[in-house]
Amino acid sequence: MSKKTHTHCSFCGRPEFQTGQLLEGIEGYICEQCVGTANQLFVDQNVAQKKSGSALNANSVPRPKEIKQFLDQYVIGQDEAKKTLSVAVYNHYKRILHPSNKALEVELDKSNMIIVGETGTGKTLLAQTIAKMLNVPFAIVDATVLTEAGYVGEDVESILSRLLQECDYNVKEAERGIVFIDEIDKIARKADNPSITRDVSGEGVQQAMLKLLEGTNVNVPPYGGRKHPEQKMIIVNTKNILFIAGGAFDGIDKRIMARLGTNAIGFSINKKRETIDRDNILQYIAPQDLRSFGLIPEIVGRMPILTHLNPLDRDALLRILTEPKNALIRQYEYLFKLDGIKLTIDPEVLELVVDKAIEYRLGARGLRSIMESIMTDAMFDLPSNQTENFRITLQDAKEKIAKFDFSLLSA
Ligand code: ADP
Repeated sequence: MSKKTHTHCSFCGRPEFQTGQLLEGIEGYICEQCVGTANQLFVDQNVAQKKSGSALNANSVPRPKEIKQFLDQYVIGQDEAKKTLSVAVYNHYKRILHPSNKALEVELDKSNMIIVGETGTGKTLLAQTIAKMLNVPFAIVDATVLTEAGYVGEDVESILSRLLQECDYNVKEAERGIVFIDEIDKIARKADNPSITRDVSGEGVQQAMLKLLEGTNVNVPPYGGRKHPEQKMIIVNTKNILFIAGGAFDGIDKRIMARLGTNAIGFSINKKRETIDRDNILQYIAPQDLRSFGLIPEIVGRMPILTHLNPLDRDALLRILTEPKNALIRQYEYLFKLDGIKLTIDPEVLELVVDKAIEYRLGARGLRSIMESIMTDAMFDLPSNQTENFRITLQDAKEKIAKFDFSLLSA
């Protein structure tokens, strides 16, 4: 293979026999030492920026359109949610940069937000992607671990511990961060359920969460978990912290339909109802639906921006396989390329994968497992062979999938 004999690191210029293994990019190569140097540079720069607080100024704040364009690279579809999120994040920056205008007596309110969407439609992905581009600390926390003080579980304040950990306990930084609270629907009030006498992980948690959302000084246990008397607390002011919550709110579609005056089965009688898109009821979500689901009015009021994610159809699933920057297929191509193998997957294979994900109701999350069932043997065998090209046909894929036990994937 003549390709390798003249390979140099494109950064330090040293040949491969001096540098050891080179990593190939689109336009050249990089050696291990240069990767290390570059990494250190980025780390130093980040630390310096954080220390000087210079990370944020009016010029460095991305505009909503830029934020959305960035999200578009990773998240397929969900345009409305992306727009709403981009505006919320942009306004969050503005609020931090211009706390209040005394002359005009205007104070910008927080744009805390709730994203409602079926599981596996991209709520966490949206949050993770937005975190990638932000200059503010960002933490993802799971609402299911929270319980009312005094019960097994974590105190609500531990939400802020995560944020502090994200910025090495720099309180000033944390105080302008963004928190994504996942599975907010799991702390809905459970009063409808007669077997629960004390709602320690529902309404109690919501009440405790209120003060975080509204903006006060909160005593935060540095390492999360439960607060205990001897522990030294860190005081964090939540006035400028943006809270974004996500949840599937299973069954909320029935409440929405009831409000809209229609029902899941049967057909509608008047004109207005006829236009309702029954395949995507979440698009009609309104604050009162969250209340009827079991979020207390005060929580709904303090998270005034409400948006939804659409269910992923066949076309969206196909695009998810190939289009995002780190799409599954791109990852496989890259993995094979590292072994010098050019991978080709016939388009019918992708369609089969998507059809199976739909048939077994696995959504986007199932795509990976199905692809793995097709690729595992090849990934095991090929690195030891002298193969340069590898193609997967529909027939190959069918044979592999036939051996796959889909029951392992159902929840
Ligand atoms: P949720 O938080 O809504 O339950 P996730 O964001 O964790 O769902 O999505 C699960 C996986 O499915 C993601 O890691 C991603 O690979 C894929 N996925 C889901 N929705 C999208 C989307 N809209 N665009 C691209 N990938 C998606």
